[in-house]
Amino acid sequence: MHLFNTISRTIEPFTPIFSDNVVRIYACGPTVYNYAHIGNLRTYINEDTLKRTLEFNGWKIKHVMNITDVGHLVSDEDSGDDKMELGASREGLNIWEMAQKYTDAFIRDIGDLNILLPTIWCKATDHIQEQIELIQKLESLGLTYQIADGIYYDTAKFSDYGALGGQSLEELKAGARVQLAEGKRNITDFALWKFSPADKKRLMEWESPWGRGFPGWHIECSAMAMKYLGEQIDIHCGGVDHIKVHHTNEIAQVEPVTKKRWVNFWFHPEFLIEKEKDGGEGKMSKSKGEFLTLSLLKSKGYHPLDYRFYALGSHYRSKLSFSYPALDGAKQGRQNLIKLVSEIAIEAGNSSTICDQEKLSELEAKMKEIINNDLNTPLLMAFIWNTFKNSDIDAPTKLASTKIVDQLTGLSLIESYQKLLQENQNIPPEVVELANERVNAKKQKDFKRADELRDQVKKCGYKIVDDKSGYKIEKL
Ligand code: AMP
Ligand code: ZN
Repeated sequence: MHLFNTISRTIEPFTPIFSDNVVRIYACGPTVYNYAHIGNLRTYINEDTLKRTLEFNGWKIKHVMNITDVGHLVSDEDSGDDKMELGASREGLNIWEMAQKYTDAFIRDIGDLNILLPTIWCKATDHIQEQIELIQKLESLGLTYQIADGIYYDTAKFSDYGALGGQSLEELKAGARVQLAEGKRNITDFALWKFSPADKKRLMEWESPWGRGFPGWHIECSAMAMKYLGEQIDIHCGGVDHIKVHHTNEIAQVEPVTKKRWVNFWFHPEFLIEKEKDGGEGKMSKSKGEFLTLSLLKSKGYHPLDYRFYALGSHYRSKLSFSYPALDGAKQGRQNLIKLVSEIAIEAGNSSTICDQEKLSELEAKMKEIINNDLNTPLLMAFIWNTFKNSDIDAPTKLASTKIVDQLTGLSLIESYQKLLQENQNIPPEVVELANERVNAKKQKDFKRADELRDQVKKCGYKIVDDKSGYKIEKL
């Protein structure tokens, strides 16, 4: 298997660090102050493709995902308000209830998208002690300093700082547009522990050796990753926005302590972007315009797997621009695929041959080759279409290959086609006959008769919907 590694900026062969056959993965999870938007969900779909591919290659997976339920400030510069506290006041909810509400919503979303769940979920608020202990270790190494509003990491003291984003500290300083906050030594220094304001009680705060306050955002991932996955991990995931600050800071918090290279592969899927009204391309946002959530798509009649199908159509390292017409295309494409598989299943049921094992192994090997090449999902989808449409491959073999397709894509084709067949079976035979007669009438260009038959079908309470691969009958 080959995978692009952000830190080397090349595609490298992947093998796990340890010989226990387990791939250790840490993925940055959601900040639970609002629903996840479909951009966030694109990243989790791409991480799921990574996991499915690793499993397909025979490795076991230990996947840890955090839930950020504290201390994620609106700005990366450790200033501004706390997103969680803002969310709670917006909703008029107790902050803990709000965190639970959006954690539950997130787990529901990823379940709807057929994303495999992590092995371990961990909440930042359940690991305050581990975060304090890690800050103490950094302090004992002389890497921290205290200013009025908190304990900060002195990035000038970590010589590899910025390597992940491909920039040295000097370059980062030169490129910085923000003013250095009061007392901060370097533009890239970041808060490890923030003090609560003396005159105000925060909704979430804890005692610490440095006083009452709350952890900086970056420390939680380092502390929990070390707790659950040890000193070295195979793959660390998160969207591309995390490269230059969050993940760069995570490395700075771990490597001076362990004196080891922490992460073998950095996996950073690209963003979903929204076309803006002025034609420009904008970042997705929870605050501007229509807030694109999976629930919104569901309320508009899309199945969550339509969105998954849409996401699989683009490579994870390419930006994807969201539009409803494109999502409509994906919806239609998924329906066509399910219909095609249901036809294959019927043909396989009537066939006197059985699955050609040699051909099936060949198809499996080809799919593996495609996905193992840096998770090429668009090519995989094209290959699947071509396979299912290929008249040289017999139906039982095609049908057997759907199991592999489901493993790799998470599209639940088997479940969907079985449901479709079931639904079709409930259609009265006389209606199916009328519909078939209509197909023949159309073939003979007897359109008057075809229209009459369509009307008869309507009178029975059904409608015929024509599509590229034929037609389907639906209840009115
Ligand atoms: P957050 O809840 O903001 O911490 O984001 C959760 C995950 O979604 C992180 O891995 C982010 O990098 C990722 N992410 C944020 N915005 C987008 C976007 N527009 N497209 C894809 N991934 C995103
Ligand atoms: Zn993180």
